Amino acid sequence: MATTRPPRVMDPFAREFWEYTQNKELRLQQCSECQKLRWPAAAVCDKCLSPDYTWEQVSGKGQVLSWIVFHRQYFPEYPAPHPAVAVELAEGPIFVCCMPDEFQGSDLADALPMELDWLESEDRFGTYNLPVFKPAGK
Ligand SMILES: [Zn+2]
Repeated sequence: MATTRPPRVMDPFAREFWEYTQNKELRLQQCSECQKLRWPAAAVCDKCLSPDYTWEQVSGKGQVLSWIVFHRQYFPEYPAPHPAVAVELAEGPIFVCCMPDEFQGSDLADALPMELDWLESEDRFGTYNLPVFKPAGK
C-alpha cells in the first residue's frame, strides 16, 4: 500500500524523472555535449550549459557520504526519529534521500555500501515509486 508523502516538486524535467520511476528505473540526465551526469534534473548542464541530454539508468549502487537523523518531526509523513542520507552514487552524483522505515540511521557509517530500494508512495500528483537507498544486502 502506498504511503502518503509531502508533494513532489514537479517541473517538466522532474516529470520525466518520475515517469521512469513508475518502472523502478533510476535515471539521471546525461549531458549530450560533455557527458556529465547531473542531478537534480535541470534545463541545462551546470558544467557546459548545453540544453541537450539523454536519460541514463544508473546502477543503483553507491556509498554513504553523510547522514543525519531528525529527532524532531517536520512532516506528519515522517515521524521522528527519521534518517536522511547523502549517497554518492557509483556514477558520481550525490543523491539525498530517506530510508525504508526499518532503518533508523544507527546502521549507517562513512563509506558504507548502499543499494537502491523503492517505496510505494502517493502525493497529490498520484502514486509513484520513491527511490531510496539502504545498506547493501540488508
Ligand atoms: Zn555538459
